[in-house]
Amino acid sequence: MAITAAEPTSVRAFGPGTALSCRECGRRYELTPKFACEFCFGPLEVAYEFGDVTRADIESGPNSIWRYRSLLPVPDNVAELPNMAPGLTPLVKADRLAAELGIDSLYVKDDSGNPTHSFKDRVVAIAVEAARTFGFTTLSCSSTGNLAGAVGAAAARAGFDSCVFIPAGLEEAKVVMAAVYGGKVVAIDGNYDDVNRFCSELIGDPAGEGWGFVNVNLRPYYGEGSKTLAYEIAEQLGWQLPEQIVVPIASGSQLTKIDKGFRELVELGLVEDRPYRIFGAQATGCSPVAQAWEKGIDVIQPVKPDTIAKSLAIGNPADGPYVLDIAQRTGGSVEHVGDDEIVDAIKLLARTEGVFAETAGGVTTGVLRKLVREGRLDPKARTVVLNTGDGLKTLNAVDAGVTATIKPSLSAFTDAGLV
Ligand SMILES: *Cc1c(COP(=O)(O)O)cnc(C)c1O
Ligand SMILES: [Zn+2]
Repeated sequence: MAITAAEPTSVRAFGPGTALSCRECGRRYELTPKFACEFCFGPLEVAYEFGDVTRADIESGPNSIWRYRSLLPVPDNVAELPNMAPGLTPLVKADRLAAELGIDSLYVKDDSGNPTHSFKDRVVAIAVEAARTFGFTTLSCSSTGNLAGAVGAAAARAGFDSCVFIPAGLEEAKVVMAAVYGGKVVAIDGNYDDVNRFCSELIGDPAGEGWGFVNVNLRPYYGEGSKTLAYEIAEQLGWQLPEQIVVPIASGSQLTKIDKGFRELVELGLVEDRPYRIFGAQATGCSPVAQAWEKGIDVIQPVKPDTIAKSLAIGNPADGPYVLDIAQRTGGSVEHVGDDEIVDAIKLLARTEGVFAETAGGVTTGVLRKLVREGRLDPKARTVVLNTGDGLKTLNAVDAGVTATIKPSLSAFTDAGLV
């Protein structure tokens, strides 16, 4: 008699993931496209039962986030499926930037090297596997820019239709990158928070039937992709946690999952249990979490974003309260820098380390410099700063150009006073 494999397959589709669990009340749900608790409306996240995971298993895995598949809600054969295989980006030892800032030990985790040039490929890769399992046919998202490109590319490779939503007025490079993969790109007359609200309505409507919104109804899966930043940093530091890390905040998801990733590594005995401090970074023109931190309150008051750091321009960040908790618990803080400091920090990072960051990397580097100047970062402790996107996507933010234009002759060159 034929035995149907329905049950074991669906279990293994999420690897070690066993349930969705409410961050607020702990109620558990099956692994479905559900994102909010039915009882308290708290956000849901993936809960696991990990097997034995060794450093050697991980080190012998693929050169992508899939080397950590035994810690992620994905099937064991995920590396063979059509996906973008992001991750394993460089951890640059930043001695020249460290010297300039006056600190001892600094690394830049440079995530601009992902397939669509931002950290978003990590989160999308996990959401796509969930979308495949749930039988969605269209991938969608509300995006501040980078997510739209990551979803477009991943959909193209995995054979999904895509339709992404962005606020009108994004950087040209981000719009082109979202559109070139052949999916639909819809600009909405409003800011990101309007776009997000619109997407929530679409999910409940027949028009959105069969659609997986990577950062809305697939959010619990999407969020887990950010843990891979924590895993990689620890592995690249020789299986040690950093002592301090500066992380950008848009919705706050990435920051909370980096913390989750570090804690898992400790629980699994893959790294030594040492204290680490997490610092959140926002642009002054969109700093609702930093403002709550400054005031010492745990309620995030939404703002209307006005900053060149458009990738971080979320005025009502869903994970803001959890970011505050983590900054508090780890002895970090949440800081902000203005647009001029962001531009200055982009140039500083480029000039000292050869890393050309998008505005979000200017935010983290600017906040790092501010923390050092104000004596709130231990200059002796091993520190990591994240660059989550590529400067080529926000070219208009910097005013760099040719030093001189000359005729093709030696005399013209010497006359120009360049040597
Ligand atoms: C999306 C994004 C982030 C972080 O977003 P969260 O919503 O906080 O997870 C950071 N940097 C860049 C460049 C991004 O596009
Ligand atoms: Zn709940």
